[in-house]
Amino acid sequence: MESFTAGLISLEDARQKMLAQLTPLTDSERLSIYRAAGRITAAPVVSPLNVPPFDNSAMDGYAVRLADLGGDALPVAGKAFAGAPFSGDWPAGSCIRIMTGAPVPAGAEAVVMQEESVPEGDRVRFTAAVKAGQNIRRAGEDIRQGDSVLTAGVRLGAAELPLIASLGIGEVDVLRRLRVAIFSTGDELQPVGEPLAAGQIYDTNRFAVRLMLDALGCEVIDLGIIRDDPDALRAAFLRADREADLVISSGGVSVGEADYTKAMLDELGEITFWKLAIKPGKPFAFGRLSQSWFCGLPGNPVSAAVTFYQLVQPLLAKLSGLQAAALPPRQRARAVSRLKKSPGRLDFQRGLFSRGEDGELQVASTGHQGSHVFSSFSQANCFIVLERDRGSVEPGEWVEIEPFNALLGG
Ligand code: AMP
Ligand code: MG
Repeated sequence: MESFTAGLISLEDARQKMLAQLTPLTDSERLSIYRAAGRITAAPVVSPLNVPPFDNSAMDGYAVRLADLGGDALPVAGKAFAGAPFSGDWPAGSCIRIMTGAPVPAGAEAVVMQEESVPEGDRVRFTAAVKAGQNIRRAGEDIRQGDSVLTAGVRLGAAELPLIASLGIGEVDVLRRLRVAIFSTGDELQPVGEPLAAGQIYDTNRFAVRLMLDALGCEVIDLGIIRDDPDALRAAFLRADREADLVISSGGVSVGEADYTKAMLDELGEITFWKLAIKPGKPFAFGRLSQSWFCGLPGNPVSAAVTFYQLVQPLLAKLSGLQAAALPPRQRARAVSRLKKSPGRLDFQRGLFSRGEDGELQVASTGHQGSHVFSSFSQANCFIVLERDRGSVEPGEWVEIEPFNALLGG
């Protein structure tokens, strides 16, 4: 099959080219709401009932009929509590003591709050004008039976699941989890826990990618470290392709290694090797294997994390059926430190933003920005996104920042 090496391609173009090819998952399953956290709705969630289900009081006070007001103080004919409605006879010329959340007795036209009443012996007098309907929450005011409360494609979290529970819905249709196979390539890599021999380093990328996939609710198939050997690599790709919806490898796509990976991938699918016009993260591969999608991340850990975050994350969002934007909106902030840059690529420096004394956002670099310096992430809470044509930034200049989402601890 065909593959090619394109020239420098912008992040936006790469993102769009990838997304244009994908169609979202549609397989779904029905889950208890106790097991649905982090999952994505497969269909709209429709309310089986009115919320609130009955007219009820918004205040502690007295339920009244308007015709009974304006004269003497009224006797109290009974009580209505939340969970214990008033059920007796309500004689004309009397009122009902009522608590917040209690069903409003039939015929009541308003609730007078306790603070606007004074006792007079065993009667009460109201001290303020009463408007029809005041302090009554109407049945269906919040949600009407048959309303769709969530659309399809919503990730279920602490804002959504309690809403579903409040409607008495115990099970929800969710899309199946994406299966993602991952491996790192490189003769120099050792897994954590093994001693390092001369020239070896620990495998950072598989750990980082795994964490981010977990956070995105994917099912991870971890194939470990694959040596720079065509047979081992081919076997890994074949297995990954069989078992997963998406295969993510790291390493082996930079100039020195791309030809060899490319030759092998040409047998297995249709893969494009991009030189992205971003820094860090220039080499990146994307395409189709026989049954699954493939993303090849660069080997340098910062480049791998940035390309995962900026490219794979939106891809996963689309593939998994998520409707919301995968990345937080960018904002303007004033640089408070010098940011070194040469024109030519869109730069994702790691920064720490905060609110300055003038009320504006400000951002500082978190230090050395090399694509192998992973520590630049741990103190950061945002990317400083510097335009392709821009050179170094002096303190005081305005820049764009992109706050980290939960994937990077934002
Ligand atoms: P490569 O893209 O395979 O040429 O790798 C580029 C650089 O990233 C080299 O210095 C590799 O040693 C390093 N590297 C590749 N994979 C990993 C990994 N999984 N963890 C840490 N460093 C890596
Ligand atoms: Mg390598």
